[in-house]
Amino acid sequence: MSPRNPARRASTRTASQPRQAPQAPQASQPRQASRAPQVRPSDETPAVPIQLAPRRRNAPPRHFADLTTEERADAVTALGHKPFRARQLATHYFEHFSVDPETWTDLPAAARESMASALFPPLLRSTKVLTADRGTTVKTLWHLFDDARIESVLMRYPKRTTLCVSTQAGCGMACPFCATGQLGLTRNLSAAEMVEQVREAMLTLANGEIPPGPTRLNNIVFMGMGEGLANYTALMAAIRMFAAEPPHGFGMSARNLTVSTVGLAPAITRLASEGLPLTLALSLHAPDDDLRSELVPLNQRYCVDDVLDATRGYFEATGRRVSIEYALIKDMNDQPWRADLLGSILNKRGRGWVHVNPIPLNPTPGSIWTASDVEVERKFVERLRAHKIPTTIRDTRGSDIDGACGQLAAEEES
Ligand code: SF4
Repeated sequence: MSPRNPARRASTRTASQPRQAPQAPQASQPRQASRAPQVRPSDETPAVPIQLAPRRRNAPPRHFADLTTEERADAVTALGHKPFRARQLATHYFEHFSVDPETWTDLPAAARESMASALFPPLLRSTKVLTADRGTTVKTLWHLFDDARIESVLMRYPKRTTLCVSTQAGCGMACPFCATGQLGLTRNLSAAEMVEQVREAMLTLANGEIPPGPTRLNNIVFMGMGEGLANYTALMAAIRMFAAEPPHGFGMSARNLTVSTVGLAPAITRLASEGLPLTLALSLHAPDDDLRSELVPLNQRYCVDDVLDATRGYFEATGRRVSIEYALIKDMNDQPWRADLLGSILNKRGRGWVHVNPIPLNPTPGSIWTASDVEVERKFVERLRAHKIPTTIRDTRGSDIDGACGQLAAEEES
């Protein structure tokens, strides 16, 4: 879901060859007399279609983290053990992050191996690890049981740690500037495949492998590969496990779990009814349908008004301020009039319900999609703030380690 994912695309268009003048804003939209020409490199390359159905439907083996507390007790009983063993296993898994039967010393030695092989099949295999920021940013490429690939990124800051989690292998949303979007959707991840990304990160942090020493995971952002809301059932099962009190889950605050979406409006409305104060991040990237339908093809189904109404509804239902993610792409969506238009369509829906995070696009080598100039970025932020929209430029951690999500997987497949 990261907006920092320019794909490598072949195109004969160069940055100095504009296609055509942008469509005029509607009468009510702020407008500037002169605008820089826009570059729409996607014109020269066939668009990847939106893909809602995964190419693969094979499911990974059942895992302890796919089960509810009751189902865990049933599964343990079915293996011939007392139900309370499930709680012991849950303590090892959610509190000590251990899937190593050698460490389960409170369980009968003879039963440990069979429980491990029946309930904890290995789901993720790390095949590449890249680090940056003096070892405090770690990006991992994982191969799944069927050799599908996903990525996760662990970022340690002075006062918090954040894990960016994948929810799908590939993504069917086809955003043209995104490496993951160009891969298409291989398949949905199971809940356990998401939970395992988190457990692995928690173990890494607890072991003190990220300098300066042992710590805990504070935040999860579903901004890795995939559109999480398109894999709704598994996503919610994983979220409930992250938020459940130990030993039923990791005991994280729901406020520190950020669900990111490009705008599946009905699923946003459904999320609002879950009764969880999750943080919602909408990847908007353009305030007008004309451009947004190019940058985020899903906009052709759920237009800007639809997704903003749904996100405003989310704020009303949960009281949680919504984040608007806006990848600043040079000469594409970074014009001052678009900042004004963004400010006005947000304010039209009330004050205090939203926060905008512009983020400079993280260009992939060879891509013609590139980040806005710093001065343009500064002016864009200034214009938004003039509309009294709280605005913070988002950090681009890991940009020197193929930080754009999907980039490692795309490189492996090319
Ligand atoms: S293609 Fe998917 S992963 Fe990439 S930006 Fe769009 S929704 Fe996010």
